[in-house]
Amino acid sequence: MTIIQARGLVRSYGPTPALRGITLDVEEGEILAVTGPSGCGKSTLLHCLAGILRPDAGEVHYAGRRIDTDSEKVRSRLRRTDFGVLFQFGQLVMELTAAENVALPLLLAGTGRREARAAALAWLDRVGVADVADQQPGEMSGGQQQRCALARALVTEPRVLFADEPTGALDTLTGEQVLGQLVRVAHEHHTTVVLVTHEPRVAGYADREVTLRDGVLDQTGPAIAAQHGRHGR
Ligand code: ADP
Repeated sequence: MTIIQARGLVRSYGPTPALRGITLDVEEGEILAVTGPSGCGKSTLLHCLAGILRPDAGEVHYAGRRIDTDSEKVRSRLRRTDFGVLFQFGQLVMELTAAENVALPLLLAGTGRREARAAALAWLDRVGVADVADQQPGEMSGGQQQRCALARALVTEPRVLFADEPTGALDTLTGEQVLGQLVRVAHEHHTTVVLVTHEPRVAGYADREVTLRDGVLDQTGPAIAAQHGRHGR
């Protein structure tokens, strides 16, 4: 099933075109890598798909419903209930412990304190950092912080996880470990992942890859061959 459909997305920042007509389907449960050189429009595409940015033209549909024309209020509620986001720097709250950080989205959604903490501990365990539950980010390594941010992005059990260069701030080995965990957990929970990266190595963890060049999808790259293979055309 297609969970996200983008049709003819166009987006500029003033005179700078970032997206110049992107049409893309994301299938439920797949890990889709969006690759391409820096500045080609990857982040802008991810922000449009996640309802953070509105495209200037084109449409975004999520679970069969058009969302780009929704108000900011409706889109922000959708982001809280159905989407998770993970950025290059985990953006953890430095004054809170790992468990408190992970519990935060649940507390904001009205879950009781005890239940939220139990879920946070379970997710920290799932991503392999149960041992840092009561430490603050400043006491944790970069990899531990990013795993904690991953747990926080997944604790609400989103249908789609949007990850923008999630290992960009980590060394190679740590980055691969975090990514391996992300892929394993996403597959286990049937979570759809849209993973933006300029590192070809990172894209290797995805089920499918599309490449952007100057705001358009590269129609000549391996991405198209892979799509054809996947759909048996
Ligand atoms: P990528 O994620 O592939 O590096 P971006 O989507 O961040 O690409 O950027 C695409 C283009 O839009 C680039 O030319 C970039 O300089 C420009 N751009 C991105 N964000 C802004 C912004 N907030 N203001 C002005 N230009 C921007």
